Amino acid sequence: MLELQGIPVSPGVAIGPALVLDDEGYRIPRCLIPAADISVEWGRLLSAFGKVAKQLEVNRKQTAERLGEEAGRIFSAQQQMLSDPGLLAELEGRVHQQQQSAAYAVSRVLHRYAEALGKLNSPFLAERAEDVLDIEKQLLHRLGAVTSDPLSNLDEPVILLARNLTPSETANLDRHYVRGFCTEIGGPGGHTAIVAKGLELPAVVGIGQFLDRIGQGSQVIVDGDRGCMIVDPDQATIDRYEERAQIRQKLTLRLAELRDLPAETVDGQRVTLSANIEFPHEVDACLQRGADGIGLYRTEFLYLSSDEEPSEEDHYQAYTEVVGAMQGRPVVIRTLDLGADKMGHTSLHEPENNPFLGLRSIRLSLKNQDLFRTQIRAVLRAAVHGDVRMMFPLISTLQELRTARMLVNIVIDDLREEGADFRSDIPIGMMVEVPAAVIMIDRFAEEVDFFSIGTNDLVQYTLAVDRSNESVAELYQSSDPAVLRLIKQTVDVSNKTNTPVGICGEMSSNPARVLLLLGLGVRSVSVPPLAIPRIKKVIRSVTIADCEEIACRVMQLESAREVDLYLLDRLGDLVPELVVQ
Ligand code: PEP
Ligand code: MG
Repeated sequence: MLELQGIPVSPGVAIGPALVLDDEGYRIPRCLIPAADISVEWGRLLSAFGKVAKQLEVNRKQTAERLGEEAGRIFSAQQQMLSDPGLLAELEGRVHQQQQSAAYAVSRVLHRYAEALGKLNSPFLAERAEDVLDIEKQLLHRLGAVTSDPLSNLDEPVILLARNLTPSETANLDRHYVRGFCTEIGGPGGHTAIVAKGLELPAVVGIGQFLDRIGQGSQVIVDGDRGCMIVDPDQATIDRYEERAQIRQKLTLRLAELRDLPAETVDGQRVTLSANIEFPHEVDACLQRGADGIGLYRTEFLYLSSDEEPSEEDHYQAYTEVVGAMQGRPVVIRTLDLGADKMGHTSLHEPENNPFLGLRSIRLSLKNQDLFRTQIRAVLRAAVHGDVRMMFPLISTLQELRTARMLVNIVIDDLREEGADFRSDIPIGMMVEVPAAVIMIDRFAEEVDFFSIGTNDLVQYTLAVDRSNESVAELYQSSDPAVLRLIKQTVDVSNKTNTPVGICGEMSSNPARVLLLLGLGVRSVSVPPLAIPRIKKVIRSVTIADCEEIACRVMQLESAREVDLYLLDRLGDLVPELVVQ
């Protein structure tokens, strides 16, 4: 039995056979061969080398004839790599001494070479890294080891183990067969984590290197509550997890009874408890759990889950589906937040050195105004079907907000001229997720209809911590006193100026932190659908006076750790049912 610790990003537990993917999405199992087969396996590897070498020579000659000697040299570089005696010696050691299969040895060694080149921070060497991976692909092909897209041919439940999953790869997982996943890299606030929660898929990320230790098909437990992964569990461990699953199940059933009751504190303060979604089909889960509305619809996933750029009609259909299903409840449609870790097939911009500080979100929309206007048209048209509100992400200057609003006005004029069926009077708000927005919050309050605090990014930009990097995950703390002061400032100014404010970052889906948020004056939160019952339970178990006292104490504390320990302690007093579990 092997237990590995990572970062819990999506709660729940899943047990099943491992499907190990390598970086390229290939299925290269860590396969050991019997001693008797070593020489045959080594012969297969040499033969694959020979065939790839021949092919490279053909490529070199043909390219040189067609495009000149210089172009042909691209393949000479690959030929040199292939004939490197150090490479063959290392592979020989793996096959002969460690009894690894030829495919597995090739995959591990060449990936390590490529990784080392990629880390040297030179565009020239980065290209060489691509060459190495290309050779790997060709060798694996000759060894018959590459199966095309293993994820599209699933026919049994699996636990997916991968180096990394992008948000769009995660969004496209077949929920029916993929029961949970673990990755070597990734941080607590990345969008992969958010999508996993949306899919209600237990997940642990940032475990560090482990793929080369796991055999294909090994039994794996993903514990998304505690952030660990257990390989080849013993019977006692399986029994323990099954018992926990039963306790969890009972709690879920008890909390489900709250579905039709209001999210109201013991002293009668009504709180708006909405849901965050990425896809229209999640609306069912929101309704089943009694959401008051959709507080954040991340529309960029329309781009991330398709190979085609969505048309106005695609946008309109998706929004109409959500708005129609919510039957008059508010739906906050956030305009595209593409960029940074949410880049699918779209060729909207060039690779960047600092994508989280680069052309992402509203900046990207303002640079691609046709795309932005297409979306605004669809939002205004869908608004005739219900209570639609539009929200801009990552606003950091007044000018950005004004330009975005100006584009809305231009679209309104166009639609009016065309005689289209649309609404021009919908509320327009902005996300508060950059410290600059908080510093200028009083000025922003004069120009928007509502605010929504995006703590996922606010934490990242306040503390200068990449939300999806496991190496700095410990610094990514939404309870950091600096973040709390920014939230307090935003809420205080909003309440003073009568500007509705809510929180839609992941912070508000944490039962202990909700106590604090209520105490700071927050009266509207939006959380992943899965979290609604627990958050409602918290709200219905406390008074505002309890929470204000908690907030008062918390604002005197000096570290995220102190804050979280104190909040957990108070949650234990006020809602013990949620802590035991
Ligand atoms: C946030 O930043 O808190 C937020 C809700 O937006 P996203 O997670 O999509 O960046
Ligand atoms: Mg954000």
